Amino acid sequence: MNGSTVFKIKDSVDLFLSNDAYLVAYYMNTRQRKCFKVNSNLKYLIETIDGRKKIDEIYSFMKSLGINGDDVDRAIVLMKKNRIISEVIYNQNIIDPLDYHRYSRQINYFSEFFEDEKGGIIAQKKLMDSKVLIFGCGAIGGDIALELAMAGVGNIYLYDYDFVEKSDVSRHMFYSIECEGLSKVETLAQELVKINPKIHVDTINQSMKPNTDIEKIISKVDLVVNTLDEPYIGYTSSKISRVCMKYNKAHYIAGGFDAHLASTGELIIPYVTPCVECYAKHFKKVLKDWKPSQHPVKLRYTEIGGLASMSLFSSSYACVEIIKYLTGIIDLGYAFKNRGEFLFTDMSLTYLDVKKDPNCPVCGGNSDERS
Ligand SMILES: [Zn+2]
Repeated sequence: MNGSTVFKIKDSVDLFLSNDAYLVAYYMNTRQRKCFKVNSNLKYLIETIDGRKKIDEIYSFMKSLGINGDDVDRAIVLMKKNRIISEVIYNQNIIDPLDYHRYSRQINYFSEFFEDEKGGIIAQKKLMDSKVLIFGCGAIGGDIALELAMAGVGNIYLYDYDFVEKSDVSRHMFYSIECEGLSKVETLAQELVKINPKIHVDTINQSMKPNTDIEKIISKVDLVVNTLDEPYIGYTSSKISRVCMKYNKAHYIAGGFDAHLASTGELIIPYVTPCVECYAKHFKKVLKDWKPSQHPVKLRYTEIGGLASMSLFSSSYACVEIIKYLTGIIDLGYAFKNRGEFLFTDMSLTYLDVKKDPNCPVCGGNSDERS
């Protein structure tokens, strides 16, 4: 161990000594608890691990208490292995020092999932190198764009053809009354660059038609977000998903509102999670006996209502999942969530029980294609 190495106790770990014989660690991010049988000297060691003292200083102090270096090393290795302590890294030019300062809070959060802070800085760098394409710049897509820009996603592509309307101002976090009549993608792009002048934002001001070529743009990004509900979400999901599967790109079908439920959306990782076709099969099965009679009013004017807070809830949920995927802090190959439905009246969240269909014509039997 290098004598100038500095360790700190992870911010998300609470430590307690029980009867001086057990060290109890509570991991606040995961709600895990671990117990270690220790000798009473460990409490003196823990007191010295303050994120500032070098390991040489700790050796000297422990030696003054009659504890030798090997015992200190063994305890350090144990605590490192169990992610109780981590090495303080100080960036080491992995990212620009100004960015390190700017994102220090989230780097601190990412680091909790790795052995040392370097893992957190690399996770931040992954975000800064990422390319995300967002179809639809309404309340959900726009809020997702804002949150990803704040998190430092380095390249954002905005796809929409619409203009800002008066009612958008009360539902979208980024339009003011002066924006009425302006292009959504252009207005949003300006806002993103104000938040973060270092990110690259491209706009694609067009609607999606059957012959619209989306392959070129999807093939060059790392992740696609679909919130485009025109002509309707089923159509855009199918078209976008087909291309994403072809190019092995993860995509997120972000939550909107239907009957005042917020969908948390689904992250689709090709050949890992259920795909759009698997979801379609699920719905066909569970809705097979659901036959609504024809509505007496055939042409209804509908505009699903909602609050800005509800859109922000759905988009924030999506962003947490997207950031987990892009940074790799959680292995979503095992820990992914299916689409959930959030009911605001009683604040209940229910996940759909959808399984990846091994015989799915789109994603089944192709596990070798994972990359
Ligand atoms: Zn499938």
